[in-house]
Amino acid sequence: KCKTLLTSKLVTYDITLGQFVNKKEQMERDLIEAIEKEEFVMFLQPQYSTVSDRIVGFEALIRWDNKKYLSTSPEEYISLAESNNLIIDIGRQIMHQTFKMAKALESYDINISMNISPVQMLQAGFTNEFMQIYQSYDLKPNSISIEVTETFLMTSFELIIEKLKILQRFGVSIHLDDFGTGYSSLLYLKELPIDSIKIDRKFIMYALSDKYSKAIINMIISLAKNLDLEVIAEGVEDDKQYQLLKKSGCNTVQGFYIGKAMRFDDAVVLLNEFSLDKLSKKKEVK
Ligand code: C2E
Ligand code: MG
Ligand code: MG
Ligand code: MG
Repeated sequence: KCKTLLTSKLVTYDITLGQFVNKKEQMERDLIEAIEKEEFVMFLQPQYSTVSDRIVGFEALIRWDNKKYLSTSPEEYISLAESNNLIIDIGRQIMHQTFKMAKALESYDINISMNISPVQMLQAGFTNEFMQIYQSYDLKPNSISIEVTETFLMTSFELIIEKLKILQRFGVSIHLDDFGTGYSSLLYLKELPIDSIKIDRKFIMYALSDKYSKAIINMIISLAKNLDLEVIAEGVEDDKQYQLLKKSGCNTVQGFYIGKAMRFDDAVVLLNEFSLDKLSKKKEVK
């Protein structure tokens, strides 16, 4: 009896595993097709200055413009693309698209930041290719920033630092993304060529209800000030969080309160029309 039970369990397990593999394989085939058809689109999420009261930049976030995958989280297919190196081709398409958008928005005096995968950056020749594409769009210095995470840096510390320094000298700002969520020590901060720290959404989420989150936010802001770094708060979703961050001296915020990631055309409309006053009044009425 026991034997049968065991066997049936094993069979069930196999089927689930098989389905999982199939889904991954299917997605891998779809990814290859998507690269050929250029189905990836960069959406732009606004970043707002609490000091100058205007939109000062956007984070470019990838979306898979295909009915089946439009709502799939990029985390799902980016990690798959990293495991089979398809991220190299995807990353190249992302660079072209993002630089083209940055060029088109040049007159607004904004900066666009893009997420770079460690697999992409560790590729030989990455910095040269980046700079070459950048120049081919005739972009001014400081038009583009790149976002890297703490875990990212741990993959190959020395080499990554060397590459980041090259890009920084070229005129690209480096943001440390999802700060405070990795397992790294604060000691490494002084080795890093970074210009700004992004406070992770998870701290903002509990900023008003939890004293630890609030203390960590204040700690990051003061750390950044003392190191002459900019701070960007991620995941700001309402006016209360916005006011708290502004009061705490956080100069730049990003989150659904200001706007979700949107298509390029909508970002242009937003740049022409956005006003925080209008936004908070509209919310009050609701
Ligand atoms: P990330 O770089 O930390 O991006 C921020 C994520 O938080 C985005 O999710 C964004 O839509 C979401 N977010 C922003 N504000 C709010 C808010 O107020 N509330 C909530 N609930 N969420 C907010 P998204 O676009 O799904 O991206 C997830 C992750 O996928 C990114 O995290 C990044 O690690 C990766 N990713 C996205 N685009 C790219 C890309 O072009 N290249 C690479 N290598 N990775 C990318
Ligand atoms: Mg990011
Ligand atoms: Mg982030
Ligand atoms: Mg993230």
